[in-house]
Amino acid sequence: MNPKRLVVLGAAESGIGAAVLAQRQGFDVFVSDRGRIKDSYKRQLTSRGLSWEEGRHTPELILNADEVVKSPGIPDTAPIVAQLHERHIPVISEIEFAGRYSNAKMLCITGSNGKTTTTSLIYHILKKGGFNVGLAGNIGRSLALQVAEGDAYDWYVLEISSFQLDGMFAFRADIAVLLNITPDHLDRYGFEMQNYVDSKMRLLRNQRAEDSFIYWAQDEYIPAELVRLAPASRLLPFSDAPQEGAAAFVQDGILTSSAPAAPFSVPVGELSLRGRHNLRNCMAAVLAAQRAGVPAEAIRAALSDFPGVEHRLEFAGSVGGVTYINDSKATNVDACYCALDSVDTPVVLILGGLDKGNDYSAIAPLVRAKCRALVFLGADNAKLHSFFDGFGLPVRDTSAMADCVAACAELARPGDTVLLSPCCASFDLFANMGDRGRQFKDCVRNLQ
Ligand code: ADP
Repeated sequence: MNPKRLVVLGAAESGIGAAVLAQRQGFDVFVSDRGRIKDSYKRQLTSRGLSWEEGRHTPELILNADEVVKSPGIPDTAPIVAQLHERHIPVISEIEFAGRYSNAKMLCITGSNGKTTTTSLIYHILKKGGFNVGLAGNIGRSLALQVAEGDAYDWYVLEISSFQLDGMFAFRADIAVLLNITPDHLDRYGFEMQNYVDSKMRLLRNQRAEDSFIYWAQDEYIPAELVRLAPASRLLPFSDAPQEGAAAFVQDGILTSSAPAAPFSVPVGELSLRGRHNLRNCMAAVLAAQRAGVPAEAIRAALSDFPGVEHRLEFAGSVGGVTYINDSKATNVDACYCALDSVDTPVVLILGGLDKGNDYSAIAPLVRAKCRALVFLGADNAKLHSFFDGFGLPVRDTSAMADCVAACAELARPGDTVLLSPCCASFDLFANMGDRGRQFKDCVRNLQ
């Protein structure tokens, strides 16, 4: 019998991994990318004798597939994907494909916000607990590639996006974490919130009684969905305050978790992550680690020495008694709200960039209560001026990072915090949010 043909659409980290794994499993593999494939990926494909194309999707080479692994970045509305659906050719995600060939336990994290932070924290805790654990999904190296290279881990901690979930059918998460569901990516879900909610809830699929489903009790959507779906898995809600049935909660400055049997507690002051939203991420991580079997001492130690994730409320330096925080990843108003909420000192706040239709009223009370001054950093700061100029705060206009940090240093007093949490995308002045954050850190270093 001829080998089955597997086509990979999209040749980036996940696609290359899927192609390598499929080849190892004996598939006839073809990789197609409508854009340009990075040279390093081309070299990987060519050196392994894999066939590929770029700049187009050739229907004759794709529509003869038995199965297709699609990159999460390609929408279902792309013409080639629509043609595959018409022909009832299965279209799956890299995680679904890789999951078939791995014997490891899967600890999966999804949510609209906090995925990267919580995934990195859980990975850090499991490592500290001496687990033989790999990190994959939207973060780090492709799961499929790691499985192809020998599937050497007992556990994988996976950051999973809704686009990955859309292509997952038989995959089963031993431990699933759903942090929250708030409107996001609605353009990919027919502008129907329920479609996006359904996508997130797919993390529950195939879970059995021995599996765990960890979720935020106060979320607007998740509790009602769980009533509707009545899953078999063990439900472990974490809650901002004590409430009936909560598996973890915070009370009087102590994070407490009672799952599974042995109660665990840690003072909030000992957590390395700051901010209310991060308390939720920590509760989720504690529950996940407990279910995985990490000893309490290792969990406690890991929570206090977790270095955080770059560009997310990242400590960037302390100069002249002023603390500098890099939260360049805060590209919307909600993220800036969380950042301001987490700071206890007067703040010099850096705002600006490419505005995606922001309504700044959500942060207005915090700006009035906490900010000493505002520094705008953008190619066009007009909208920020029209909203904030009436607040009576000192305001500076800048359009380069060096000027911006210099203005902050001038406005801040010892004991203050300078916070880059700009509410906006970075593309007007920077290559991306990482570039913006790194330039900020460089400029802070230069002050020293
Ligand atoms: P993601 O990977 O889901 O984009 P990140 O961990 O990169 O999430 O965090 C992105 C931003 O979302 C952070 O700057 C932070 O302000 C905010 N955030 C993090 N965790 C949460 C949470 N649990 N709830 C709400 N917002 C959060």
